[in-house]
Amino acid sequence: MDHPDNWISNTGRPIGGPTVVLDLDGVISDAAHRQHYLEAEASKDKDWTGFFHACVDDSVIAHGRALAASVSPAVCLVILTARIDDIRDATISWLTTNNIRHDWLILRGPRQGAPSTTWKAGQLELLRAAGAEIQLCADDDPRNVEMMRGLGIPTLYIPSGYYGDRASESVEYR
Ligand SMILES: [Mg+2]
Repeated sequence: MDHPDNWISNTGRPIGGPTVVLDLDGVISDAAHRQHYLEAEASKDKDWTGFFHACVDDSVIAHGRALAASVSPAVCLVILTARIDDIRDATISWLTTNNIRHDWLILRGPRQGAPSTTWKAGQLELLRAAGAEIQLCADDDPRNVEMMRGLGIPTLYIPSGYYGDRASESVEYR
């Protein structure tokens, strides 16, 4: 079965059956050192390019890597991140270098510029349409957690501290 070009297989395992979906930044990858690129109030004033490209310097969040490693081999593990296509290769390299268990990586394709929560909701619907039975999600953005639970998916909220200082109604792209 053909999948969208922004779905990147790591193990050759097909999409479908029991599936766990984990976020990357703030759950497995420590993006704290690059939050300063987003200090500006308005989205148009934030340095999104600087923020995303600094991902190569992220360290591993040990408990996030352990969470991924703890997922049964019988379960398809998808990493779903709102990272942009420009850092696709850097992200693949980081996951490999740091030995992060995953079967699939899903990040934004070109021109997929919707806010993070909207974009992730669309990807989850596509996963389900492709046969994935999503049993669990984990994310550090409270808006994503709310959305995922709204889709009927049990979801772990993993606080990263990246979102605590902003109004809940503000648009979020990461
Ligand atoms: Mg995150």
